[in-house]
Amino acid sequence: MITYLRYAISPTKNPRTNKEIPEIVKREAEKLFNQCRKYCINEKLKLVLMPIDTKDYKDVMSYINQYSEWASGLIMYEHKFNKKEMEEAKFLLLKSTSLICPEKGTSQMFSRCCDSNKLIGNQEGFFKIRKNDMEKKMITGTSAYRYFISKEIKEKLISDNISNIKFLPVYNMNNDEVLAYQIEAKKLMPLLAEYNKWRVYKGCLKCGKLVYNPIQDYAHPLIIPKEFKAYLSDFNATFEVFTEICSRYYIISKKFIHYCLKQGQKN
Ligand SMILES: [Zn+2]
Repeated sequence: MITYLRYAISPTKNPRTNKEIPEIVKREAEKLFNQCRKYCINEKLKLVLMPIDTKDYKDVMSYINQYSEWASGLIMYEHKFNKKEMEEAKFLLLKSTSLICPEKGTSQMFSRCCDSNKLIGNQEGFFKIRKNDMEKKMITGTSAYRYFISKEIKEKLISDNISNIKFLPVYNMNNDEVLAYQIEAKKLMPLLAEYNKWRVYKGCLKCGKLVYNPIQDYAHPLIIPKEFKAYLSDFNATFEVFTEICSRYYIISKKFIHYCLKQGQKN
């Protein structure tokens, strides 16, 4: 496994203090970007994708610390696994390269946590999409960080006894027709925050509900202790939720993966 930092080496004016970027910060950022140019993935944004076991990574981190007032705070990590690691893994994190945007913003789909009115509540009601959103997709990610599957796949998952999965209808935005199903875990996983050192993103002082920073904020991949293996089914979701939209991470078994591959699903 190789871990990469995804970061824009481009200082910005501090919106709180409205202070201009000092010349020295601009110069240092320019110098650092030139040093890291070999990792550049977007010239305009000065965006780099660099392995974290390098001196360049250490230099970027010290730039961020030294110029924290102007340096971007958006620090994201990605992990790339080789073929052997992928083959040997018993469980994988579900991700999709296809994306659809259901109707309604997050503010309408999610309840407030309590009378403190904080937007860290649960999903209320069902998602709606346009008639042709699913097209020929069998499984897709969504802008709300939930996953939808086609009606055909739902039937097959049921007949193949994929465990711990439940299906919520996704409706046509114009009528009551069911166009797809949202997949969720029946039973959630044991708490993982402590093992993953997840940082609280927002919390409600009144009811104690917490949401965490997303997983890409940490320099390590998702950690599940060995002793939790007994709790894992074919389809699993974290108990903890992340950011305002209370997304979860979905962990799938080899059976689920093979099943999707058998159906010709590439993403
Ligand atoms: Zn609350």
